[in-house]
Amino acid sequence: MTGMKLLFATTNRGKLAELQSLVAGLPIQVLSLKDVEPTEVVEDGATLEANAIKKAQVYLERTGLPSLGDDSGLCVDALGGAPGVHSARYAGVEDVGVLGDAEARYRANNAKLLQELAGVPMDQRGAEFRCALCLAMPGQEPWVVTGVCRGRIALEARGEHGFGFDPLFDLPELGKTMAELTAEEKNRLSHRARAFQALRPHLQRLATAR
Ligand code: IMP
Repeated sequence: MTGMKLLFATTNRGKLAELQSLVAGLPIQVLSLKDVEPTEVVEDGATLEANAIKKAQVYLERTGLPSLGDDSGLCVDALGGAPGVHSARYAGVEDVGVLGDAEARYRANNAKLLQELAGVPMDQRGAEFRCALCLAMPGQEPWVVTGVCRGRIALEARGEHGFGFDPLFDLPELGKTMAELTAEEKNRLSHRARAFQALRPHLQRLATAR
């Protein structure tokens, strides 16, 4: 497909797959880090927004390509909003390599979350996923949008889809965890989908103005 080139500045395969289907239908040619050399971006910002901006700007500077950065996390009410911006390394486990397999890290994070919430009753297990997306374009100020999805932390993991905390993120109105949703269903209601909806008109304008 032709159109404006847009680099998805993420090393997370789960996010990449979601963003690829969210952008479908726009006149955009998606590039991933497989198309450029991946760079380690240190996520040292105090907020999701700051990290999303950093990821997008590092890749714009490196490649000259319009770049889309995502930073997201899980905020648990009973933990005062933790792990939040520290969600990826909640249990202190690192991936191997820039595009490394994240499964061991996800398992450790989920085990730690269940342990931290041991004994907390269902009506106090409220939580939300938050996502910040940043579009960095050459010669323009970065464009930042956010999205939130509320739910609660299940008593045990359910479901095989998605990534990260999805098997523990229960959506009471559906009676399913995020990992029990198909990719299409998750992309209708997730924090990332909601942030992307806010970005979509801007992206459409930029892509068709070229
Ligand atoms: P990031 O790569 O620094 O943005 O880390 C995001 C982390 O937050 C991931 O490693 C997951 O632990 C969690 N996370 C963010 N979005 C999602 C999601 O859609 N599902 C499940 N976990 C998510």
